[in-house]
Amino acid sequence: MLILMTQDARPEDVQAVLDLLQAAGVRGHLQQDPQAPSIVAPHASQALKADRLEALPGVRRVVPITSPFKLSGAEAARGRTVVQVRDVAIGDGSLALVAGPCGVESREQLFTVARYVAEAGVRLLRAGAFKPRTSPYAFQGLGQEALDLLAEVRDTFDLGIVTEATEVDAFEAVEAVADLIQIGARNMQNFALLRRAGRSRKPVLLKRGPAATLEEWLFAAEYVMAEGNANVILCERGIRTWSDHARNTFDISVVPAAKGLTHLPVMVDPSHATGRRDLVIPCALAGVAAGADGLLVETHCQPEKALSDGPQALLPSDFFHMVQQAQAIHGVLKGPTGLRVWH
Ligand code: PEP
Ligand code: MN
Repeated sequence: MLILMTQDARPEDVQAVLDLLQAAGVRGHLQQDPQAPSIVAPHASQALKADRLEALPGVRRVVPITSPFKLSGAEAARGRTVVQVRDVAIGDGSLALVAGPCGVESREQLFTVARYVAEAGVRLLRAGAFKPRTSPYAFQGLGQEALDLLAEVRDTFDLGIVTEATEVDAFEAVEAVADLIQIGARNMQNFALLRRAGRSRKPVLLKRGPAATLEEWLFAAEYVMAEGNANVILCERGIRTWSDHARNTFDISVVPAAKGLTHLPVMVDPSHATGRRDLVIPCALAGVAAGADGLLVETHCQPEKALSDGPQALLPSDFFHMVQQAQAIHGVLKGPTGLRVWH
């Protein structure tokens, strides 16, 4: 159910609704919409009749949620969710940029990349401390040492930090440094990790699994949200198909499809989606044109020496070029020309 409160509902009216839901064994998720508060209560209709709630002071109307995506579905909110990551708003119609090397490799590498990422005007730096690798013999990330470097680089350049949590045991350490916690594609259905992310106060960037349908991806978001964390950003990063010219197939149509089904922001990662430097910029621009709320892109000061994902890392000069072009495309679509973004 979606319980819409009146504009003048008092905090105690909201609390009375939450208490009634709790007494019926249902969790209510409070949403502070600009117009009026609302409460989403998945499957509440099994435990409570709508008229019991509608009789309470401050309740305007109770609307059934027919979508299986009780919290992430478009029906569950009155507008689009905007996730605030430090000074970057994601999902408000602007273009959010997140960039950095695949992994933290050394102080020098991290600081060199952070410097030019910041110079390009990008406010969120992404680099992995824990790397989920296909081979157990490949570079696994520097772990806590990398997290310490990320904390240092954040303070030096005043950048927000995006980094991945690969397991529940390391979550707390990642949470202490990250402004936005990435859940990687391989962990999209790691339900224990999703639940842990749901109990975090930090926003979550949820990559789509390489073989996940849109439905499975949204149910993964529900796992996070059902634990109380409403700040989830979806990120398309390519799926496995029989096409073999690129590392993955960039599923561009999922961007408008996802934006139609959910109120959550949708970003794209053209780096992992293609795995090839020469394909990253065209796909980044296509993602912006398709209505993505942001880009997540890998870049490295010396890609030929990178310990992971070097072939897809943009060179610094290409990275500057991409930022300018992406902003230009976004400006055309969102600007005063009146062109419409199709979602
Ligand atoms: C990454 O972002 O470096 C990464 C490993 O991504 P994915 O989980 O999409 O493969
Ligand atoms: Mn990578």
